[in-house]
Amino acid sequence: MSTVKRIIENAYVVTVSGAEFPGGHIVVEGDKITAVGPGPAPRIEGAERIDGTGCLATPGLVNTHHHLYQWASQGLAKDNTLFEWLVALYRPWSKMDAEVVAGAASAGLGWLAKSGCTTSTDHHYIFPKGRGDLFAAEIEAAAELGVRFQPCRGSMDRGQSQGGLPPDEVVEDIDTILAETEAAIDRYHDDSFGSMLRIAVAPCSPFSVSKELMVRSAELARAKGVRLHTHLAETLDEEEHTLQQFGMTPVEYMDTIGYLGPDVWLAHCVHLHDTDIKRLAETGTGTAHCPSSNARLGAGIARVSDLLKAGAPVGLGVDGSASAELVPLAGEVRQAMYMQRARYGPTALTARQALEIGTLGGARCLGRENEIGSIEAGKLADIALWRVDGFHAAVADPVVAFAYGATPPLARLLVGGRTVVRDDELVTVPQDEVGRRGADAHRRLMKLAEEVL
Ligand SMILES: [Zn+2]
Repeated sequence: MSTVKRIIENAYVVTVSGAEFPGGHIVVEGDKITAVGPGPAPRIEGAERIDGTGCLATPGLVNTHHHLYQWASQGLAKDNTLFEWLVALYRPWSKMDAEVVAGAASAGLGWLAKSGCTTSTDHHYIFPKGRGDLFAAEIEAAAELGVRFQPCRGSMDRGQSQGGLPPDEVVEDIDTILAETEAAIDRYHDDSFGSMLRIAVAPCSPFSVSKELMVRSAELARAKGVRLHTHLAETLDEEEHTLQQFGMTPVEYMDTIGYLGPDVWLAHCVHLHDTDIKRLAETGTGTAHCPSSNARLGAGIARVSDLLKAGAPVGLGVDGSASAELVPLAGEVRQAMYMQRARYGPTALTARQALEIGTLGGARCLGRENEIGSIEAGKLADIALWRVDGFHAAVADPVVAFAYGATPPLARLLVGGRTVVRDDELVTVPQDEVGRRGADAHRRLMKLAEEVL
């Protein structure tokens, strides 16, 4: 089989690894980038030539936190804090089945690809009994669309009767959780270079998970060589909870149970003390920053610029769509930048730094910085080509045109060299159908959840 070759020429190439090439080129052979540089590309027999005139080429964006099933429960509990919102939604979520997850994941991942995302994680932590294989449903949706996927087998074991927040009927027992998590890793996890599917382990949060499950999940992940994720320090209510239950802040608690390290990334980290930031940096623990969701729930503004200054890895995440309705990943580059500046001043986060956390920073969180996150020879050909001609051409700097205002149209999205989006339209799956599947999943969940809503 001959290798597919593509040449992108005349684009403003932002490699994110230091160099920028106005009018530059990128050569793609198979699933990898084989050359990047200034000016036209060398002639390559049989290559498809993509004219990038008027386009900005960036690495594909990396989404480091999501709950795809929540596509089916958008627009509910609209004006609530995190804890109020969770209490309102746990019961309807407990009624979901594999069909709901399949439709929600298809629409949620399609939406992500349309905003430049080439790699996404997911955090699925509710597994109602007898409702089909929910984890397989989202994995199939990602494979069909053709995006790189790193879903977490999530879990909760501490219901209300054990001092946790969720009702007892949505939690599982520890033995089931660990057995199912190990089975998911054995079945799906592909560690090879260029892998389209990796699994991570992710008990949900300190207020819904026992200490024993946190500790044993970390042991399992490390024995299997996969990454660890959870929610942390999202709200002050959570800090109050860990102070009351464990006598420690959320970061201190995770530190004492061995849940920090270069193989761990944490969602949110909004409420951090100076000592927490120091520990996250020292241990190489990543943060998935989800600015729109934090704003929607009134949780606060994460100390992203302080984390970056300390040298801690930071990535961007859209978070589940029930707390970040229709949020596009490219828009989070802007949201992150503006929220840091609103709180810390105009130099707190530049457009280029915001793009870097959305790409290379995310790759670091997922442990894939050698494969994705920047445009370099030898890395995977995960590339977004944005149209910054037209209205966007009136802006002096194409990176500013991308980051400051409305996201420009997406001319092309390559994942491992394969076209997934062309001219703002999904090409691997029928776009209208994907949208319909998401709406059907919403209607189905609302019907299944009628008696508890
Ligand atoms: Zn979340």
